[in-house]
Amino acid sequence: MKLGAQVSVSGGLYKAFQNAADVGAETLMFYTRSNRQWKAKPIAEKDQNRFKQEAETFADQIDSLVIHANYLMNLASPEPEKWEKSYNALIDEITRTGQLGVVNMVMHPGSHMKSGEETGLAKIAEGLTRALAETADSSPDVVVCLETMAGQGTNLGYKFEHLAYVLEKVNSPRLGVCFDTCHVFTAGYDFRTPETYEQTMQKFDRLVGLDQIKCFHFNDSKHDLGSRKDRHQHIGKGFLGLSSFANFVNDDRWANHPAHIETPKSEDDEDGNSIEMDPVNLATLRDLIA
Ligand SMILES: [Zn+2]
Repeated sequence: MKLGAQVSVSGGLYKAFQNAADVGAETLMFYTRSNRQWKAKPIAEKDQNRFKQEAETFADQIDSLVIHANYLMNLASPEPEKWEKSYNALIDEITRTGQLGVVNMVMHPGSHMKSGEETGLAKIAEGLTRALAETADSSPDVVVCLETMAGQGTNLGYKFEHLAYVLEKVNSPRLGVCFDTCHVFTAGYDFRTPETYEQTMQKFDRLVGLDQIKCFHFNDSKHDLGSRKDRHQHIGKGFLGLSSFANFVNDDRWANHPAHIETPKSEDDEDGNSIEMDPVNLATLRDLIA
């Protein structure tokens, strides 16, 4: 498996690579725009080129990049205005991903806002079908990965059936899944032992297909199985524990898949000194490889 982290790009998108190298990552995930703002400046051609140059410089060390879309988009929104805004933001995210030569772009499926799960899922499928058609010529290589969700509030995508429905409706090789360990666990699927891990994998395979998984988010959880809460914890320090991650990193099916941690970036030691945690969490994961 390729182990990496979500990294900052403040000061320039190309900085993602050095930032990832600094924490010992073999792969990286980043946001190309503020994740909590609707408006974003287009990526200038010189910045696209600089990013691609840097990608080449680091190619031996870092690959399988992933872009994470902004958090505001809600393709399941029952409000036409919000839906339209979300759709346009999605087109922008796909375009930016293609401009940087990145393949996988992760997005949260959406929240139905009390309009009902079926209505929400249908809207997501409709939006994705349109967006993939609209960007087929401009960004043919970009694959949109729907993230597995914890099921907080009216979030969709916390049941494997939700993902299965959207993937089947849209039916495109440019759609896949990003498997978030914290979210899947708090959504109610166990994988802490080899047996429960295999059961959950088989369930996912039966409903969605393991070949749909393009990338992972590796996060431990501050909340327990089935809590439907989304609070990430350091690797091995939460309810998932080290055994969960050992099951993933030693599974040959994921030998070439990237996994990115989205765990807290720093922690204070006993003396109140701030410790950078990404290198610690990545080392913990590497130690689990048998
Ligand atoms: Zn996410």
